[in-house]
Order: sequence, then structure tokens, then C-alpha cells
Amino acid sequence: ARLKELTSNMDHVTVKIGEEIAHVGLKMSGCHGFCEMGPLVRIEPYNYLYLKVKLEDCEEIFEKTILHGEPVTRLMYEDNGHVYQTQEEIPFYAKQTRLVLRNCGHIDAEHIEDAMAVGAYESFEKAVFEMTPEAVIKTVTDAGLRGRGGAGFPAGRKWSQVASQPEKIRYVVCNGDEGDPGAFMDRSVMEGDPHRMIEGMMLAAYAVQAQEGYIYVRAEYPLAVRRLQIAIAQAEEKGLLGENILGTGFSFKLHINRGAGAFVCGEGSALTASIEGKRGMPRVKPPRTVEQGLWEKPTVLNNVETYANIPMIIKNGADWYSCIGTPQSPGTKAFALTGNVKNTGLIEVPMGISLREIIFDIGGGIKDDKGFKAVQIGGPSGGCLVESQLDSKMDFDSLSKIGAMIGSGGLVVMDEDTCMVEVARFFMNFTQRESCGKCVPCREGTKRMLEILERIVAGNGEMSDLDELEELADMIENTALCGLGKSAPKPVVSTIHAFRKEYEEHIVDKK
Ligand code: SF4
Repeated sequence: ARLKELTSNMDHVTVKIGEEIAHVGLKMSGCHGFCEMGPLVRIEPYNYLYLKVKLEDCEEIFEKTILHGEPVTRLMYEDNGHVYQTQEEIPFYAKQTRLVLRNCGHIDAEHIEDAMAVGAYESFEKAVFEMTPEAVIKTVTDAGLRGRGGAGFPAGRKWSQVASQPEKIRYVVCNGDEGDPGAFMDRSVMEGDPHRMIEGMMLAAYAVQAQEGYIYVRAEYPLAVRRLQIAIAQAEEKGLLGENILGTGFSFKLHINRGAGAFVCGEGSALTASIEGKRGMPRVKPPRTVEQGLWEKPTVLNNVETYANIPMIIKNGADWYSCIGTPQSPGTKAFALTGNVKNTGLIEVPMGISLREIIFDIGGGIKDDKGFKAVQIGGPSGGCLVESQLDSKMDFDSLSKIGAMIGSGGLVVMDEDTCMVEVARFFMNFTQRESCGKCVPCREGTKRMLEILERIVAGNGEMSDLDELEELADMIENTALCGLGKSAPKPVVSTIHAFRKEYEEHIVDKK
């Protein structure tokens, strides 16, 4: 509370301890990602990372580290007697490739100068002065970047479809409506490095020659909204947004639109309807968003993480980017690692890494050394992966082959004590509540599935319920209008397949 008071009123403090006096700068950084160990304090230039820091620790940190460069080892990460002195050595970070999250936790997200000191807007400058819009699209296409919002559609192809429309009024929209339970990747980027995402949107706008853009961010992310507002205002002040940017004749205006937290508004057509002031409901396609999106104009719609990848692709080139990850899914992916894992937090890994490496090397294994049971990937639209799938590669195509999906990047780890029927009920309850009600299969089908699951959990289920669940799931998957409905049965189907015995025991045991 004291720090908050200080930082909201000033950007530095004068500290006197004993005879020593020092002026200490205060910076409002974003998240370092190691949530399990927060509050974290990173001391530059030594790269010491102090964990679970309390107010009482500050005096010792100041005396030892700030004044004399000595580490306070009791606050450092320790495993089996080994103390990890720098952040980069800690196993949680050592296996990560932090590209999109590189600046999160390291720069002051509320000062554009801090972002510019580490290269913000250099890629945009390079694009507008040295590249044609077509060359920008070609670079993104050659890099092989696929949308990080879930479907994995190639970003460059989407952009070229917008650029080829005869209609010249075009929009660039950012989906920051991260609604999956347990997901907070986009939030961290918006809070920790908003200029990276804004620059990505500017590059998309230049590539398709769009004049206006909208960031659709959920109102439950007030800090993200505030930092985006500050970032946009500062970019406008520097002449990086608005009319005739950098004297090039190119103009781009950026708006923020706050969503009210409906999960369905993460779907493209519902999102654009919501921006237009209409009820957020998906519509039948075609026309696709690239042809008729926002205000029925051609629209590039990507999510926060996708845009955040763009500046470094333009800076370093397509070849550099396509060498990271796998040939079909280049680059990295940010995941929110939560649940019964020792090291919960926000991670970024190269595509193609195995689930085992994520859970056991980065995540440190299962909490309290219990057995691993399953991991829910992709939130309520994803599915459960079990022990035999721990060596699966985490990329779009490998996961789709085993009936799962990356989704936006939520990973909820479950230990041996987790009841999988309860898990299925939790996700079905979520999607049922979030169904917009437009189409019958989703509106009624999810309700029936939830009723059956509640019956089973209450001990009133019957064996025939399992067949009925699978029949309903099949019907919903094949007939629902949008992705929310189509994927709603996935957690139920995948848990029935992997843990049928558990469902059966529920029915028999509780009678
Ligand atoms: Fe709405 Fe569900 Fe139909 Fe999607 S599938 S349009 S969320 S009712």
C-alpha cells in the first residue's frame, strides 16, 4: 500500500538508511510472469530476482543490494540446496523463449520513452520509410505467423485478403477480450508492453492501408485499459498516431472499446457487432470479416499476441522468425500455466515444445508431489490431455491431430485428486452461461448436457446418460452457429473418452 501511494504520486523517492542517502527511481512495470513467487523484485544490473518480497525485506535489499551489489540469498529461488542467483538461471525461465513478453516486467509501461529505448516503433519507422505495404504483408506471410487467438489462421493471408478488397475504407481491430477461465496472456502484454501491440496494429494498418483501428478490451482489465489509454495518448503526442504520421502522408487513428465481459464477444462477428453498439452475437458467414467486418468494411481482426509478434518480424525478417518453433507453426506461444502445478505463471515457449517440458521443467511438476492426472488446454473450447499425451508437441497441427487445440493459451493442470466429472461440469456450466442464445443447438443443447452432468455429480445419473451426452455433443458440434457452441462439448467428450471409468464409478458409487 505504501508503494502504491508513493508511485501514484511521484516517480522517485529519497531514501535514508543510517548515514546512507540514495535517490531511487520508481517504475511501473508489467508482470514478470512468475506469479507463484510474487511479489517479485528484479535488481538491475545484476539480474537478481527476489521472490515473495515483503515490505520488511526492503531495508535489507536496499542496504545489501542497492548500496553494495550483494545478493540477499534468502530471497532467491532455491531448489535442492542450490540457490539461483539470476532470473535467467531459474528453471522457470531457463526453458522459455521470451520474445513477445521480453519487455514485460522490464520497462515502465506508462512511459513511451522507456519502450522506445528498447526499440518500440523502430519497425514501424522501417516499414513506412523502407517498405511497401505489399512487402510488409509478404514478410508476415513468409514468416508463417499464425493467429494466436485460437484458430491459427495465417496472419499474412488474412492481411492480403483485406488488402485485395475493392472497398478502400478498412479497419484494423484487436481482440483483447480474453475470456477463457485461467487465461491472462493478453492482459500481461497490454499491461506490460502496450506499445508493442499498438505498433503491431500500426504495421497491419499500413499493410492494408486502413485508416482506423479499435482495441476491444474487456472492462474487467482496468489496468490494461488505463495503460493502453496512456500509450495511445503518448504515441499521438510523439506524432506516431493520428494524421500524416512522421510526415509520410499515412494516417491512423486508434480507439479503445471496452467490452462488458461476454465470452461470446471473443468471436469475430460478435466482437465487431459489439463495437458497433449492437448486441454481441455471432452472425452467419459469409461474408467473412476480411470482406465485411466492422461497419461492413474489410477488417483485419487479430488478437493481442498476434499483433505483438509483428514488430520483431518486421525488424528481424521472415527467415529469423520462421527458424523459431516448428516449420508449420513458427514462433513462440504464451501460455497461462495454472492449476495444481508448482510454478504457476505466465510463460512463453517455442512452438513444438512438449507438454512434459512445460509442466515438469518450467512448471516444476505437480504441487505437493502428487501424481499428474490431466491438463485442460484451450479453456472451455479445448480438451483434456492425459499422461499418455504428455510428450505431445505444443503446436497447432500436432494438437489438432489428437483432438485438442491451443486455443488462446490457457493450461490448467490437474492432479490425481481432481474429479474429472466436476471439471466437465465446471466448463459446461461456463459455456452454458455464456451461450448467447441465438441458435437452438447451443442454447438448448448445452443446457441439457449441463443437466445430465449435474445429475451424475449428484449421484442420480444412469449409464445411458453417457450415451446421451455423446449424442448431444455430436449434434451441438455439427449444428451450432459459432465456435463457442461448436467447441462447448469438447471438455465433456474428451473427459468421457479418457476417464469413462470415473464417470461410471460416479454413477454406480453414489447410488
Ligand atoms: Fe450463440 Fe451458442 Fe449459437 Fe454461438 S453457438 S451463436 S454462442 S447460441
